[in-house]
Amino acid sequence: GSHGRLVVVSNRVPVPTSSAEPLAGGLAIALQAALKTRGGVWFGWSGKVSQDPDPALQVRTFGSISYAVSDLSRRDIDEYYHGFANRALWPICHYRLDLANLSARDASGYFRVNEQFARRLAKMLRPDDIVWVHDYHFIPIASCLRRLGCANRMGFFLHIPWPGPDIAAALPEYDRILRSLAAYDVLGFQTPVDAENFRDCLVHAKAGHIVDGGCCEAYGRRFQVDAFPISIDAEAFAQEARVAERNIVVKRMRASLEGREMIIGVDRLDYSKGVKQRIAAFSAFLERSPQAARGRVTLLQITPKSRSEVPEYAKIQREVAEQVGHVNGKLGDVDWTPVRYINKVMSQSALAGLYRVARVGLVTPLRDGMNLVAKEYVAAQSPENPGVLILSQFAGAAQELEQALIVNPYDVEATADAIARAFAMPLKERKERWSAMMETLRCNSVEAWTNRFLQVLSGDADLQELEP
Ligand code: UDP
Repeated sequence: GSHGRLVVVSNRVPVPTSSAEPLAGGLAIALQAALKTRGGVWFGWSGKVSQDPDPALQVRTFGSISYAVSDLSRRDIDEYYHGFANRALWPICHYRLDLANLSARDASGYFRVNEQFARRLAKMLRPDDIVWVHDYHFIPIASCLRRLGCANRMGFFLHIPWPGPDIAAALPEYDRILRSLAAYDVLGFQTPVDAENFRDCLVHAKAGHIVDGGCCEAYGRRFQVDAFPISIDAEAFAQEARVAERNIVVKRMRASLEGREMIIGVDRLDYSKGVKQRIAAFSAFLERSPQAARGRVTLLQITPKSRSEVPEYAKIQREVAEQVGHVNGKLGDVDWTPVRYINKVMSQSALAGLYRVARVGLVTPLRDGMNLVAKEYVAAQSPENPGVLILSQFAGAAQELEQALIVNPYDVEATADAIARAFAMPLKERKERWSAMMETLRCNSVEAWTNRFLQVLSGDADLQELEP
């Protein structure tokens, strides 16, 4: 295989020393490590608004990695990012046709911005570079680069779910999106179900056929379609959780519990996360608990606001705030707040420590590509006295973490039952479930994920040889 530079393309780029929000996530660290080893470029949007209609590319080099970003005009941000990506692609890929907002103006903005990015990237690209594009913002990059004559190996990884043909067909510019995806050499999805859904879409659209072992032929090209479930660095996270006992936020939380039990939820405030159903389930659990037991448990719901410019997000923010107020008003007491609802961003260190304090991790998205919070909660537990993970069947993580208490998040009563079961679970069962999940996380680290994708993309190995 080729060993040219690695070029990573993603909407946001974690440029070191930038004043943008610190991207301490495992993914950023893993990609940075891969870029450092091979040498490479990380390319994307600066996250900033430009006044200039044709903003220049800003390149900064640190050791073997160059970060190349450009600003976008207000109009580009509205159409490409808030519009097509977050009001059409996001809801439809999360099975929410009811929340999709289809606009021809946004669609043309999306393809126009992708074309602009591809033109800038084409100027930097060397013939033996391999290109790895991330997520729904940049689906058309490869097809734009191909039109500009780039013959490089190009791979795409979708971090969000991909639905079956009945739902995917509602995507605006559906045919153009399928055709754009066929310009890659490797298409990676979070789970085998997502990969299967995508292959079904090709067949259903009469665009091509499945050759074998995930190899597809469509729109006159041959490419590989497979699952690459993303993960975390479980050992590093466990270590973070051990030392976080000393974190001030964790100490304050523990002290304020005054011996009560804690359940934790951590989600961007997004309608895909099932926060309303979760609070309803916790409330149902409390209502059926004996009066004396009620005040003994608190739900800590950490929910940073997200995409507030998008109307559907402004709506869910109002609804959850109202619901929390309602539950606390109805069930709370002078010395007990049932739901502690927090909208600020917590550091990974504070989160790691809080997960470890929580007897139950409540992860109940209505639909989620993977959900790293579920994996982090498991990695943060103490082996001697691990907590219980309650996990939605509709999170990609449920396909790996089978030993969690798996729930249907739409079924509020069943989720309330699972909370009761988690509190009643004997230590032996908690340890067995936790050990099995921790083993899964150890086997499939985020580093293994990066290596496996890059090996397939470089053509160094067959997928079959690399099954985790
Ligand atoms: N996260 C964080 N601080 C917060 C809330 C979340 O650092 O206050 C992190 C969390 O630890 C996890 C990521 O954000 O690593 C969320 O990833 P996930 O896959 O669960 O959901 P996404 O937000 O990507 O949909």
